[in-house]
Amino acid sequence: MRRIKFTSFVIVLSFSGFWLTSCAPEKDEEALKAEAKEIHDRVLTVDTHSDTPSLMLRKGWDIGERHEPGQRRSGKIDLPRMAEGGLDAEFFATYVGQGERTPEGYARARERANLLLGAIHKMAEDYPQLVELATSPEDAYRLEKEGKRAAFIGMENGYPIGKDLSLVEEYYDRGVRYITLCHSSDNDICDSSTDRRNPEDKGLSDFGREVVAECNRLGIMVDVSHVSDKSFFDVLEMTKAPVIASHSSVRTLCDHPRNFSDEMLKALASNNGVIQICFVSSFVKKAKPNPEREKALAKLREKYGSWSEVRDESVREKMEDEYMDIYEKYPSEKATVQELVDHIDYVVNLIGVDHVGIGTDFDGGGSVEGCDDVSELPNITEELLRRGYSEEDIRKIWGANIMHVFRKVIERAKIVGA
Ligand SMILES: [Zn+2]
Repeated sequence: MRRIKFTSFVIVLSFSGFWLTSCAPEKDEEALKAEAKEIHDRVLTVDTHSDTPSLMLRKGWDIGERHEPGQRRSGKIDLPRMAEGGLDAEFFATYVGQGERTPEGYARARERANLLLGAIHKMAEDYPQLVELATSPEDAYRLEKEGKRAAFIGMENGYPIGKDLSLVEEYYDRGVRYITLCHSSDNDICDSSTDRRNPEDKGLSDFGREVVAECNRLGIMVDVSHVSDKSFFDVLEMTKAPVIASHSSVRTLCDHPRNFSDEMLKALASNNGVIQICFVSSFVKKAKPNPEREKALAKLREKYGSWSEVRDESVREKMEDEYMDIYEKYPSEKATVQELVDHIDYVVNLIGVDHVGIGTDFDGGGSVEGCDDVSELPNITEELLRRGYSEEDIRKIWGANIMHVFRKVIERAKIVGA
């Protein structure tokens, strides 16, 4: 990794008296911003996780329209702001909250997944001049050249698959290119990192092994974000292709079960996989205890039930409003862009620059100070450049790494599936 380029350039110019000392710092910053913008525009930029499809279902919210950043009902991503923020490709997630593991529960989960899949397809039909559905790395690179956004689909939580393996192929046919095996609770595929109702971590189930093998056969990326530590190692032991963590961060820097330990990061590198650093503030920086907020959130859950139980869109909106009220009333200090890039640095120093990328989790809780929505993504590139990352490193982090893994998964499928 070359991390000297920009700073050495500045030092040489400063010593040669090229700039007047009084205005040098401003000039440095201006030059850096300009160079960052050029690099940001030149490289393929990919975000591997957003929960924006749930907004697509909201009445009156249109992804083709620009929404003012920072407003409560704006969301973090729309197509105009994607262009502003120079984001070329997004993996839109069909997030389904974990519910009961019964035939009725599976049916409801499938219904929700279908609604979200339909919304993503509809976006592409409504705005063909702005965005296209993408199912391969080649699509993303082609669309970048055409100046259109690439919309990939990731399925967050394998719950809609229930116990029916044939559904994996059905979802593949509808464009799904990664499956996050579980969400916040254990499911039939594997145990979750955040479900300790049963303290024993059972890892990947027999059915889960079949799901991973089916993903390998079809060319779907297996996403190990949200899975428990044992599930993670179980997946790595049997998968025939590299895996991704579509939105996770580093446990050594922020001790949270959703984040990856050093041991996991090293194992991920031997699998040739990639971790996409997540922008959820409490995964970036340990949140201070906020008992009043916890109490208010518990009351909200009592009132409405869990998110997965609320299917009426108008009730869901009310719940969202009250949820945001609570966060406004009991705020906590947010992590910064600098602290977020510390996670990228950490992964680079531990396992190298080939195994890290960006997975914002916008519209699913992702937001840090200095990068609250998609239009502010160039601030990440600026910070990388400020720290001396070369254009080649930035290209890898922003998209080349994840597209390389995706290509390997597709190549592997041709062998496994044959
Ligand atoms: Zn998530």
